Amino acid sequence: MSLAGAYESSNIFAKIIRGEMSCAKVYEDDEVISFMDIFPQSPGHCLVVPRNVEARNLLDFPPERLGALFQRVQKVAAGVVKALNPDGLMITQFNGAPAGQTVFHLHVHIIPRYGNLPLERHHGAKMADMDALREQASRIAAAIGA
Ligand code: 5GP
Repeated sequence: MSLAGAYESSNIFAKIIRGEMSCAKVYEDDEVISFMDIFPQSPGHCLVVPRNVEARNLLDFPPERLGALFQRVQKVAAGVVKALNPDGLMITQFNGAPAGQTVFHLHVHIIPRYGNLPLERHHGAKMADMDALREQASRIAAAIGA
């Protein structure tokens, strides 16, 4: 799918936002929902997804909501740091299939880095154990709430 086109409400993240699919939730408010990526590139990889908007990518997103979105990215990133104590963090975001986007509802990746621990390739990771993801999610959620 290219950069241009219609938003499709059948995408996975729209289903998670509507509660039709489960997720290991980290944080939510009126602006976003944040949950663990089920194919984590490193332990603690989570996603921040804006709700109440039909935006496939950054270019579709209302500019007046960008500040609120990135405040939530910072909030969740701080929770990841507090809970998991990584040595670094990658914040990534892909627009259009040629750029690596596979789910066409705008989202931001928060990917912790630990010393020299190699990163799994984007879309090259194994599906994570759901119990392990829920345990990480609850630690991050507690750190955000603390
Ligand atoms: P993109 O490649 O579009 O930037 O990122 C989509 C991300 O969603 C990928 O990192 C992929 O692992 C993740 N993902 C795909 N399907 C699901 C799902 O059903 N649940 C969750 N939590 N993550 C998913």
